[in-house]
Amino acid sequence: MNDHHFFRQVINNLHAQGLNRFLQPVVQLPEGRIASGDKLFLNLSSNDYLGLSQQPELKEAAIEATRRWGVGAGASRLICGNHELYEQLEERIARFKGTAAAVVFASGYMANTGVISAIAAKGDCIFSDELNHASIIDGIRMSRGQLFVYRHNDMDHLEELLSLRPASGKAIVITDCVFSMDGDLAPLERLVAIRKKYGCLLIVDDAHATGVLGRSGGGLAEHLNIVGEIDATVGTFSKALGSLGGFVAGSNDLIDFLVNRARSLIFSTALPPSILAANIAAIDLTVNSPRLREKLFDNTHTLLYNLRKMGFQIGPTETPIIPLMVGETAKAVLLAAQLLKEGLLVKPIRPPTVPNGGARIRITASAAHSPEDMESALAAFIKVAEAVKSRQNVSLGAAL
Ligand code: PMP
Repeated sequence: MNDHHFFRQVINNLHAQGLNRFLQPVVQLPEGRIASGDKLFLNLSSNDYLGLSQQPELKEAAIEATRRWGVGAGASRLICGNHELYEQLEERIARFKGTAAAVVFASGYMANTGVISAIAAKGDCIFSDELNHASIIDGIRMSRGQLFVYRHNDMDHLEELLSLRPASGKAIVITDCVFSMDGDLAPLERLVAIRKKYGCLLIVDDAHATGVLGRSGGGLAEHLNIVGEIDATVGTFSKALGSLGGFVAGSNDLIDFLVNRARSLIFSTALPPSILAANIAAIDLTVNSPRLREKLFDNTHTLLYNLRKMGFQIGPTETPIIPLMVGETAKAVLLAAQLLKEGLLVKPIRPPTVPNGGARIRITASAAHSPEDMESALAAFIKVAEAVKSRQNVSLGAAL
């Protein structure tokens, strides 16, 4: 029996709630621009924080590797897909993260699902921040561990839950370093102290901190000077590093264990040489380009300062992720549509990505943007804010 009416019913329900999603063809361009059809926008919604996706060094590395070795890996890493560039890349990651070793996965999503489901066995307890990324949540679902969710960044609550756990089995604490929809930081120093006090394993997802925080872009642990105090650091090449792929950095034993146990590594085809070569170039460029991080934060501070001055309500961010809080889903969709008309690509973030009533516009500048770009972005925000204020019947509530 054909059940396609079920699919239509779900889509109709999503439409009714303003939650329907669809895919839109776009082309990423240099200087933080994006094209859709014949229209050009300032892209304030990507995670390409340093603008590396368009950098000549990465492009050349990928093209050269493709010419030499072709486009596909041919098999999983354990069969015959483990190109020699993997070794160079993993050695670079370990140095970048200050760990003994590292292992590359096909994406950050697969790194999280792989590491969590491999480590958390039956009888283990997993303690997870309530705002952790979906890939962490899915990794926990794929594992045999028992889940305990602690309130966002609430270390007292985490300790309370840890003290109630059964004596047997491992205790595993998992957190994002930068929360992707809010831009705030995990209290990593306290988490490290809790790791020592309770003898638990600490897994952190450094996706949005890698390339962004720390002197050489090494992430939150480097920023706080506590490198070496974390059991497993997950990262991705898909954000500040401008490309594709994920990784886990940690001890030699952890990495050997993952090669033998992480199903998303074992049962999926290896990355192609082009991506491995681009990722090596990305780490080198990131480590050697503090100026890109300065530009990123200059642009971010310009936006933050002026949006707050205009009266927009911004969440408690400490990173280039700027959450412009709106509340109602329909209002976030309307605001994003108005900004799009003014030439800014920003996206409304709606449930279930954020809690009900927590719809927002997530804004991210990049090092690829110029100070003039920030001025024109702010001019668009002013125009939209004024239009909203002058039309009493269209109130954007918390957004202004
Ligand atoms: N962790 C976090 C915090 C993320 O934001 C993302 C991407 N949205 C991922 C993991 C997954 O990384 P990737 O896109 O490389 O699969």
